[in-house]
Amino acid sequence: MERLWAPWRLEYVQSADELEGCVFCAAAAGDDDEFLVVHRGERAFVLLNRFPYSSGHLLVAPYRHGVNFPELDEAEAAEVHRLGAQGLAALAAVYGPDGFNLGWNVGRVAGAGIVDHGHLHVVPRWSGDTNFMPVLADVRVIPEHLAESRRRLAAA
Ligand SMILES: [Zn+2]
Repeated sequence: MERLWAPWRLEYVQSADELEGCVFCAAAAGDDDEFLVVHRGERAFVLLNRFPYSSGHLLVAPYRHGVNFPELDEAEAAEVHRLGAQGLAALAAVYGPDGFNLGWNVGRVAGAGIVDHGHLHVVPRWSGDTNFMPVLADVRVIPEHLAESRRRLAAA
């Protein structure tokens, strides 16, 4: 899958080589702007996916490394759920999508890019977003720069 107009990508590829370990742990300890963090809760936080399926694709992760969906404790599960709902509401207010997909990838075979630090995907969807550009050209257009998305969603 290729993406058009991705000015952040080169920057990411350059810094990915330097970044050792887990990107969620780095984001948890790092700078909001650098790691596209939208909101920090008590036990979990929300950040933009650097390789989004659509504009505003959010990830909600517990701070704790080494747990996925089945291992969340009660407090983490409740906060991830609540932050997912708040992220959905912020996306609805800022972008007005037609729907959402929410889900977890557990295990590499299921598509998890980072298997050791579980996270909930919150993906806004628009009517027709699956049957035009991706199918036609195997290219997805990401129309808004991630830094601007982060700013708008953090405000919401
Ligand atoms: Zn981690």
